[in-house]
Amino acid sequence: MVKCDCERCVCQVDPATAIRVGDKVYCSDACAQGHPNGPGCGHAGCPC
Ligand SMILES: [Zn+2]
Ligand SMILES: [Zn+2]
Ligand SMILES: [Zn+2]
Repeated sequence: MVKCDCERCVCQVDPATAIRVGDKVYCSDACAQGHPNGPGCGHAGCPC
């Protein structure tokens, strides 16, 4: 497991199922898009 590449996100993601953008991996579409509309990833305990 690796940490989501969203800076504020604390989620761990499985590289096999993560959302990939270039060489970065994200836990959700919101993180992958840099939270253009504000909402976080929606995972419990995550402040992003
Ligand atoms: Zn998160
Ligand atoms: Zn994330
Ligand atoms: Zn995020």
